[in-house]
Amino acid sequence: MHGIIEIKHVFYRYEKDSVLEDINISVPVGSFLAIVGPNGSGKSTLLKLILGLLKLQKGDIFLFGEEISKFKDWQKIGYVSQKANSFNTGFPATVFEVVSSGLTKKLGLFTFFKKEHKEKVMEALDAVGMKEFSTRNIGELSGGQQQRVFIARALVSEPKLLILDEPTVGVDVENVHSFYDMLGDLNIRRGITLLLVTHDIGTVSDKVTHVACLNKHLHFHGDTEEFEQLNQDGLSKVYGHDVHVLAHNHEHGGVRN
Ligand code: ADP
Repeated sequence: MHGIIEIKHVFYRYEKDSVLEDINISVPVGSFLAIVGPNGSGKSTLLKLILGLLKLQKGDIFLFGEEISKFKDWQKIGYVSQKANSFNTGFPATVFEVVSSGLTKKLGLFTFFKKEHKEKVMEALDAVGMKEFSTRNIGELSGGQQQRVFIARALVSEPKLLILDEPTVGVDVENVHSFYDMLGDLNIRRGITLLLVTHDIGTVSDKVTHVACLNKHLHFHGDTEEFEQLNQDGLSKVYGHDVHVLAHNHEHGGVRN
């Protein structure tokens, strides 16, 4: 059985520093995987390997069943980087324009189809709950709203897999639940496979279906239920604090650290 991403026995070192050792992760089609780990645990390095931005040194990565060195279908993968949502108030672009820029790769097709172009942008904004903000200036929005717009920008080219680097960093604590609800919708209703990376294990939501805990080695990889049942002591040793899934839509609200 092939996952959308298969990481097999991956090792990586920067000169003398070994930062990833024997990483094995499978991302099933339609799943929502959170890779969690403290700062310096190798998350960005692993993402760069998956995105083909760093060359594999040892091990294999398969994307959509294809060896990464031969993989060409990059438009199937949407990526939202960590620094996406840091526009100043004066930044001269509307939300619509920012999302449209996600279509540049396909622009040739759309030059004569302005209406279709507009519909795609509005649909992507709708998917992230930001349709009514299309004419607003991107810089006027909150960090969380900007993050949604950048997700829409990645969605507009209709990826099958969406990769998000620390997406909740700019999101206010009170908005984290609704942000995860939106991601859950993309995952379940739109069938997009999601991979997110976060240092904040306290924000792992019950919308997530699988969890991988990284700290140079893979300390855990399994579904959310198995993650919940984990020996808390074991993970506290790795992360320095208690670890829970941030449950929501429950009477007593979220469980946070
Ligand atoms: P994370 O994203 O979890 O914070 P990184 O993958 O950025 O972790 O970093 C893992 C380790 O690799 C850290 O110790 C970091 O200092 C080191 N590292 C990251 N990038 C480089 C680089 N370009 N050269 C040397 N060391 C690096």
